[in-house]
Order: sequence, then structure tokens, then C-alpha cells
Amino acid sequence: MKDQKDFQVVIAGAGPGGALLARQLASAGVSVAVYELKKEGTLGHNWSDAVEKTALAAAGFEMPTIGNGRYKGSLVKKSEDDDNLFEPHRMDRLQIRFPDLSGATRTAVDFRYITTDRRVLGKMLAGQAIAAGAEIFYQHRADGLIGDTNGPLEQIQVRGLRVTDTQTGKTADVRADVVVDAAGYLSLLRASLPGAPALNRKFSGGDLAYACRTIRRLDTSRATADDLVDHYRYGAFKGYFWTHLHHNDSVDVGGGVKEAPGRVDPMAIIKEMIAERPSITDEELGGGGGIVLVGKSPWTLAASGFAAVGDAAGQVIPTTGCGVGGAMTGALLAADAIMAALKKGACTLENLWPYNRNWFAGRGSHLAALSAVKEILQDLSHDEISFLMRKDIMSGEMLTPTINGIFLEPDLPTMIRTLVNGLSRPLLLMKLNRATTLGKKIFTHYRDYPEAWQPAAFDEWVRNSEKLFGF
Ligand SMILES: Cc1cc2nc3c(=O)[nH]c(=O)nc-3n(C[C@H](O)[C@H](O)[C@H](O)COP(=O)(O)OP(=O)(O)OC[C@H]3O[C@@H](n4cnc5c(N)ncnc54)[C@H](O)[C@@H]3O)c2cc1C
Repeated sequence: MKDQKDFQVVIAGAGPGGALLARQLASAGVSVAVYELKKEGTLGHNWSDAVEKTALAAAGFEMPTIGNGRYKGSLVKKSEDDDNLFEPHRMDRLQIRFPDLSGATRTAVDFRYITTDRRVLGKMLAGQAIAAGAEIFYQHRADGLIGDTNGPLEQIQVRGLRVTDTQTGKTADVRADVVVDAAGYLSLLRASLPGAPALNRKFSGGDLAYACRTIRRLDTSRATADDLVDHYRYGAFKGYFWTHLHHNDSVDVGGGVKEAPGRVDPMAIIKEMIAERPSITDEELGGGGGIVLVGKSPWTLAASGFAAVGDAAGQVIPTTGCGVGGAMTGALLAADAIMAALKKGACTLENLWPYNRNWFAGRGSHLAALSAVKEILQDLSHDEISFLMRKDIMSGEMLTPTINGIFLEPDLPTMIRTLVNGLSRPLLLMKLNRATTLGKKIFTHYRDYPEAWQPAAFDEWVRNSEKLFGF
């Protein structure tokens, strides 16, 4: 434990958001400390996740090339459990199945993710941060912010972080120019600022999903004609389920549903999927489950001396629950803003504002629009979603951007096709229209996020956001 030692930046949490932010700042000569609850070597998950390729590339990872339907490159695994980052199986053309399993979209979805070993990613990012000069204190719990934290947004001045060494029980205050909440969806630091409702919103209800997956050994000799096509059963049980290959002899079976009373247990559906495929054996190579954030960001991600990154900032794709790419994108934007503010000599809200502007007017506008669309579409029945898919209203072309975290307004031919093909279900078309109209409005509104911190302009933006989201 470093008692009372000052750093320029202190980060709570060494997930992909916190570790990448630390690496970026430390590489630029900023003194950074990261306080992480877990033990060294246990970051991430015990499985591989689908991570946005663009975000990994932007973070500097060498992206593999493609040959014979498989990934090739220095970071691609040679065996199931080596210390390489990417699974070799390429899942670029994903089949989308109807939720009632009565069919599949004709156009395969261009899946812009790569299956990434989360343990290895955790180790790599933490290693890079340390190599760049950051300090990571494992088994340390961030307990709360210190400074002027009770007032409204414009009066907040965060001055440091209270941390406890969980092995010794010793608590200390660590002072810093900026404290970053990168400790995950509970947003414990961000949500602890009682006077700033634009910043402190806790994630709850429709913001949360529950997901789990199991990685199983395949024995294809048991059933050579088994159904092992990479697919999403999209819209099923207010969520989605999937199977996709990892290696030739291992498969990932999983699913996630909206976290709500009476929800189905995704594992029960996963077990049914396994039972239907005799080649999937009982040998489990990895897996687990947990709460997944599918909500949107609060209205600001910064205050004077403070920023939130990753899940703590709502930087996830709400239509898939994929948040590793968002956390890395957020970390890169936050790093730029923090470095510029440090150069100016004051990490005020005004100087950190470019982080907000770049997030909300950029990636955040897509994710916010999609979160509104998701809220409406999630409440459709299996029959309704299957109808939309069968009639090519929710087509592969339309689902491609949605699954990849991109909001696209439907073009004129799509709108005409929707009208013609959906004539027999006018109420359903009205719901769909409500979703896309609201998505469009939110997207445009976020593109106009205030360029600079001006309380009146920001208050007006917040009021309009609340109206759009029906608060
Ligand atoms: C079952 C499941 C499946 C998922 N699948 C995918 C997927 O396929 N693709 C994808 O992109 N995303 C997926 N996600 C979501 C993804 O894991 C998160 O969006 C991502 O990890 C967010 O990164 P982060 O750095 O913001 O936070 P996290 O990865 O949550 O990291 C936060 C870190 O903070 C630490 N911490 C927490 N509290 C404290 C404290 N008080 N003090 C100090 N440290 C603390 C934690 O130990 C953790 O290491 C999945 C999540 C789950 C649960």
C-alpha cells in the first residue's frame, strides 16, 4: 500500500477500460496508479468473448489475417489453452435464426467481432500498462471518492480515492488530479456523487441482462451431421442465444436475457441446445455467467477531477451486451482528454469535456439510439419478431449494423418493403416505426451534444434527452 502518495491519475479497476487507460496515460509520461480488487493473473473471464475488431485494432493489437476460413497471425491460438489472444475459428458470417426457430435470415450477418480470450486480454493489457510505467495494486478495493463530492455537477471537485488493501485491511487516501471509475457496471464511484443526477444514474431494470456460456469439447464422431452452424437465435426470451465454434473440437454455447423477475434461466435453454447436438460432450473447457450491462451512458461521464470509463460509463452495445470494445474506445478517448487537461494544468470539468463530446457525438450516439430501439423491440413476442424476420422486414442487412453496434436509419426502399411486407400486421409496424423514429431522434440529438461545458446548454440537452427516453 502506498500511503498518501500522489499520482496524476488514479484508476479504480483494471478491466479492459482501466488497464488500457493506464497504458495510454503512462506511455505519455503521466504518473498512474490502478487499484484492482482481484488477484494478479485473474483479470477477465474464464472464457473467450466476442470483441469488436475495430476497438482491438485501435488499441494497437495486431489483427490476424484470414486463410481457409480461419484466423492466422502472431496472436492467434495454436492450441485451446495457450497464451495467445484470439481463437482461430473465424465467425464472420453469422446466421440469424428466428426466435421461434421457424427459420433463419437469408442474408448472413457480417459479424465484426473476433473471439478473444479474456484472461489473456486481461494479462496483456495489464502487462502493457506496467511496461509503460503504470503501477497496479492488486487486491485493493476502491472504497470511495475524496474531495468535494456532495454538491451539484458544477461544484464537484474530486481530489482522490480511498482504498483498502484487502489483505491487510489497511485503508489510505490516494490523492490525484483525476480519479477514474473503471470498476464495472456497479459504477460505485460515479454513483456516489449524490448531487449530480446527470452523472450518478445507477444501472437497473432494463439496463441489465443475465448471460452465461459454456465451452464444450466436441466429439464429431458422435454425430457428423450435427447442427454446428455459427448462429444467433436473436430476440429469443428477451435476449439471444448462440452456438459458435472455437476450434475444430470445441464449441461455445451461450445466451443472455433481460434481467427481470420471472426471466428464463439461460442455462436451461443452453442445456436444451446441447441435448439437441449429440457431438457436444460433457467436457467443459470454460464458461460461467453474470450480469451484463445493456443500458446507456449517463448524460455526462466527467466532473472536475473525475471520469468514468467502460461499463461504469455505460459504454456497451445494448443490442448484444458486448462492452469490451466500448470500454477500450472509451479509454482511448478519456486518455486523450485527460492528457490535454493535465497539459492545461487543471483537470476541470471544462477541460475534461472533450471526453464527453467525443463519446456522445461519436460512438455514444449509435449506442444510445440502439438502446431505445432495443427497449421497444425487446418486448415483442417470439411470433412478432419471427414475422418481421420471415417477411424480410428485420432482414440480415438490417440486423448487421444492429448487432455490430451501429445505428442506421432505414433507407427509402427498406421503408417501402417494410410497409408492403408488413401490411397484415399494422400494429406491429407501428411499434417498429416508433422504434426507428425514436432511434433517429436520439441519434441526431446525441450528434448535437454540447461542444463545450456550458451549464445552460448542457441542462437543455439533458432535458431533451430525458424527454426522448421518457424519463
Ligand atoms: C457472462 C458475460 C458475457 C459477456 N460477454 C461479452 C462478450 O462476448 N463481448 C464483450 O465485449 N463483452 C462481454 N461481456 C461484457 C464485458 O465483460 C464488459 O462489458 C467489459 O468487461 C467491461 O470492461 P470494464 O473495464 O469497463 O469493466 P470490467 O471488465 O468489469 O472490469 C472492472 C474491474 O474492476 C474491478 N473492481 C470492481 N470493483 C472494484 C473496487 N471496488 N475496487 C477495485 N477494483 C474493483 C473488477 O475486479 C474488474 O477487474 C460479458 C459479460 C458477462 C458477465
